[in-house]
Amino acid sequence: MTERRKTRQIHVGNVAVGGDAPISVQSMTITKTADVEGTLQQIYALNMAGADIVRCTCNEQAAAEGLAQIVPRSPVPIVADVHNNHLMALAALEAGVHCLRLNPGNIRKPEHIKLVASEAKDRGVPIRIGVNAGSLDRDLYEKYGKATPEALVESAQIELRYFEEVGFDDVKISVKASNVPLMIESYRQLSAVTDHPLHLGVTEAGPPPAGLIKATAGMATLLAEGIGDTIRYSLTADPVEEAKAGRQLLEAMGLRERRGLDLIACPSCGRAEIDVIQVAKDAQAALEAENLPIQVAVMGCVVNGPGEAREADIGIAAGRQRGHLFVKGQVVRVVPEDEMVQALLEEARLLVSEGVDARLAAADAGAEAEAEADRLALLGEQGADANASEQKVDLIRKTMEDGQPHK
Ligand code: SF4
Repeated sequence: MTERRKTRQIHVGNVAVGGDAPISVQSMTITKTADVEGTLQQIYALNMAGADIVRCTCNEQAAAEGLAQIVPRSPVPIVADVHNNHLMALAALEAGVHCLRLNPGNIRKPEHIKLVASEAKDRGVPIRIGVNAGSLDRDLYEKYGKATPEALVESAQIELRYFEEVGFDDVKISVKASNVPLMIESYRQLSAVTDHPLHLGVTEAGPPPAGLIKATAGMATLLAEGIGDTIRYSLTADPVEEAKAGRQLLEAMGLRERRGLDLIACPSCGRAEIDVIQVAKDAQAALEAENLPIQVAVMGCVVNGPGEAREADIGIAAGRQRGHLFVKGQVVRVVPEDEMVQALLEEARLLVSEGVDARLAAADAGAEAEAEADRLALLGEQGADANASEQKVDLIRKTMEDGQPHK
């Protein structure tokens, strides 16, 4: 991956954004902000799922009053999302929020923009300039004929200039679009002309799985190019899914330390000795409940499983009605097949509390030899071509030659 681009650093409450700060995960509540207890409950759930910063809408006075109660009790910094009415931005500042998000397409009067920026400056509160292709400033839409990367970037720059007129530059910027190529190109262009931290997102990505794929395509492409300081998945789903996805994306790209489970599983094939999909699901459910920060492998057979998953902290491979439990590729125990998920869970707990060396030292004597015997027996039964592909190819050729089916 390309080295991360240098951006200046701002602080959203106690979370640093930009510079060398870890890339942060954001999400947004879907409760009415006036519902203080309901909103706080969701904020806590989002935080548990991986959100570092949470945004709440501030669309009416009751929402701003709710924020006054929510902010002091929140486990993470709160951003107030403001559209249309600049008074809501002022009210959110009174409530003590840690950041504002303003949409330049919706609050358009320069005197309103400057008043909000100047108040934010006095209180040391940063603002996200949140440009959105779907609500682009009307004048820019007319100038460019449609939402283009140039139009989105210019919208952000116009807003920045208003801020600069009152001496305010505590700013991060987003140029979101629901069209992935447009989103990618907009951020590339923006990143070339500013060193403000960038908040990435594909807006209105829709429900999973398509929404997850769109958002990941856009954000992962930019992150791999070193662009992006904070991210948000905009999914039509429980926002906990957004926070989880954000965290998982950063962990998968090696941009944040793993703090939860990473389950890898083989895709299964003709060699599989178990229902890999079901066992992987059962293992995921059992291990996720424990929130252990390890990589776990579920492999369908002992022929290739332990070797292919040797980088995993721990794993299980099936073979001859038995589960072969391995730690860092070394088989440590062989258990009956119907006990394999339970055995995996117990070993995972021990691994986290005792460490790899201790668990390797506690391996059952002979486990490796038993696994090797099972592996050789399976190879003997199935041969090297478990899917019988060569045999099938021969039958296809015969059928094509003589026009007759062959059994
Ligand atoms: S060879 Fe074994 S581990 Fe590899 S995909 Fe097939 S069943 Fe899974």
